Amino acid sequence: MTLPRPSILCDIGNVLVHFDFSVAAQRLAAQSDVPADRILRLLDEAKEELESGKITGDAFITRSIKESGFRGSREEFHHLWCDIFSANDPMHRTIERLRGERPLYLLSNTSDLHKDYLFATFPVFENFDGGIYSYSARAAKPDEEIFRHTIAELGLDPAQTLFIDDLAANIATAQRLGFVTAHYDATNHQDFEEFLADWMLRSEITPAPGAEG
Ligand SMILES: [Mg+2]
Repeated sequence: MTLPRPSILCDIGNVLVHFDFSVAAQRLAAQSDVPADRILRLLDEAKEELESGKITGDAFITRSIKESGFRGSREEFHHLWCDIFSANDPMHRTIERLRGERPLYLLSNTSDLHKDYLFATFPVFENFDGGIYSYSARAAKPDEEIFRHTIAELGLDPAQTLFIDDLAANIATAQRLGFVTAHYDATNHQDFEEFLADWMLRSEITPAPGAEG
């Protein structure tokens, strides 16, 4: 068994990418008799089941097309449902810089539909060494279960792992389990950079006695 190394565990939404579900609702409503705000609520309910792995992506699309009265094709629905993300460029630059410096992992409440889309769309995801996703873990943040699953599955030592997330509830669970945490605010990326620089120094692997440096 390999010893855990200082690692980074990173949320996706509002950390690596921004998102706006109302954009999807408005574009679906343009091809439906159901108003956008009602579609947004319907999608939100179905999304919970999708992201916790209770229903598949296929079942989600079938149900959502029916409930929203969308007149377009499944492919169009799929595209509109996924085309809601935009890059948080400063964080992409940070992650690219960290590649090779520390193992990089993802921990996200998401679905196969969005995960596949994100990986195909934003090159930043190529920098990650693995990840845990709510739809396949069948558990979601902020519950402890998905964090415990993540620790076991990725072989992490929470005390040596920097967990980055924008939601206070997720940060609170991570802190309870002993993670080092960064409560990320995309409007103040510089704050995060300063915290990260400090953690990088603190988490450097100490050279063996006699080693130079
Ligand atoms: Mg988030």
